[in-house]
Amino acid sequence: MAEQFVVALDQGTTSSRAIVFDRKSAIRGVAQREFTQHYPKPGWVEHDPREIWSSQLEVLHAAMRQADVRPEQLAGLGITNQRETTVLWNRKTGEPIHNAIVWQCRRTSAACDRLVREGHEALIQERAGLVVDAYFSGTKIQWLLEHVAGARALAERGDLAFGTVDSWLLWNLTGGAVHATDVTNAGRTMLCNIHRLEWDDELLELLGIPRSILPSIVPSSGLIGKTAPEIFAGTEVPIAGMAGDQHAALFGQTCFDVGMTKNTYGTGCFILVNTGEKAIASRNRLLTTPAWSLAAGSVTYAMEGSIFIAGAAVQWLRDSMKVISNAAESEYFATQVSDSGGVYVVPAFVGLGAPHWDSYARGGVFGLTAGSGRNHLIRATLESIAYQSRDVVEAMARDGSGTAEVQTMRVDGGASANDFLMQFQADILGTAVERPVVAETTALGAAYLAGLGTGFWSDREEIREAWKLERRFEPGMSEDERESLYSGWQEAVRRVRGWADE
Ligand code: ADP
Repeated sequence: MAEQFVVALDQGTTSSRAIVFDRKSAIRGVAQREFTQHYPKPGWVEHDPREIWSSQLEVLHAAMRQADVRPEQLAGLGITNQRETTVLWNRKTGEPIHNAIVWQCRRTSAACDRLVREGHEALIQERAGLVVDAYFSGTKIQWLLEHVAGARALAERGDLAFGTVDSWLLWNLTGGAVHATDVTNAGRTMLCNIHRLEWDDELLELLGIPRSILPSIVPSSGLIGKTAPEIFAGTEVPIAGMAGDQHAALFGQTCFDVGMTKNTYGTGCFILVNTGEKAIASRNRLLTTPAWSLAAGSVTYAMEGSIFIAGAAVQWLRDSMKVISNAAESEYFATQVSDSGGVYVVPAFVGLGAPHWDSYARGGVFGLTAGSGRNHLIRATLESIAYQSRDVVEAMARDGSGTAEVQTMRVDGGASANDFLMQFQADILGTAVERPVVAETTALGAAYLAGLGTGFWSDREEIREAWKLERRFEPGMSEDERESLYSGWQEAVRRVRGWADE
């Protein structure tokens, strides 16, 4: 029999990618295409769902060509996606009724403020595991139903479908035969009861969302559907894995045991810790989220801290401050000085995410003296990424998620290539940081979910063995220095809070 493979679709915020993996978890083909970002107003972000689909389909075929793999050789297809981004489409025609509202879009901030004012925060946290924020899908659906002419009538006739990007891709891959979402994506809508893994009538009523538009909720692994004949010239490939990008990365990092933690350093930082069968309610404004479900009735939970600006602060150094010409250069300049010279940068450009959730905070630079120079600024900016991550890890420890005892944090994402940053992260956490050989953990996670779902891989132990360490960063800083540096950071954060009027 010809060699078999699994393909992962990684539908991200700025690009669509597809990666073909072999049984040893090695990458055999990869293709990527950027697509258009629409900014209709300040703070608003949209994507064209048709472009999401067409770019995704194109890279799927391109990756297979590169790997020289025929459809019959695909043991399964997995989907991972930008989370929370909201699409509504007509079930009859398959046409979207509006652009997708992207997770970053702030257009429903006022609706969220109203939910908080009306006292619904506790109910939403208890049922959905989320803080009330425009980030999540619920208020985005509400906005579309209220602002797109004819949307409600379509919903009342049962002809309107809602989906996050996983559902949208699944619908298109199956030629409209399957309308489903997995537990991890459902858990980001603000409509799902994450304990029962069902849509919650009270939350639906609160936001005025009709049940008729919702997809069914399925496990993240196992047969979800088959590709329609037109996708692969007649060959039906099983779609057997589906998870939001950060959840897939946790799985791809093989964080299968309670307390295992990963941090993805991309535009923002997303830290997730496996909390096992327990959905821990945070007292420190972290999110509770289904990490994955490998079979109906079984679920593993995670706690998550999302930091909005991480690698994006390095882009700010490059594009706005113009003190570096590319991101990798930040490491060279940061290591030209022995410390930041007392300088702290708080990159709260769009407010602060977890655990502060202060949308009125704005960025600040503190501790400047006449001797502060560009290298100090660059170093302090990289350090801010590590400090923000510690804020989240501390909140996790206070919530008793098991991280307090954890000895390592697994890392991935673009900025994890920065050795200085990784060493400083280990130092400031007092915890070892481990970087794997395969940095494509998000796509790998989706491939693993699909491969487990079809028996391509037999179990998690087989997958666990495929995870290979590239480099481990050991904490080297004294306790005194660590705590004194960190308390400077905490003071800087206190000073940026509530800065903006709106
Ligand atoms: P995303 O998936 O969010 O687009 P990536 O994982 O591709 O992000 O990482 C890109 C981010 O990482 C950018 O914000 C970039 O500034 C940052 N980055 C990339 N390489 C480095 C580096 N060597 N040092 C610091 N930051 C980096």
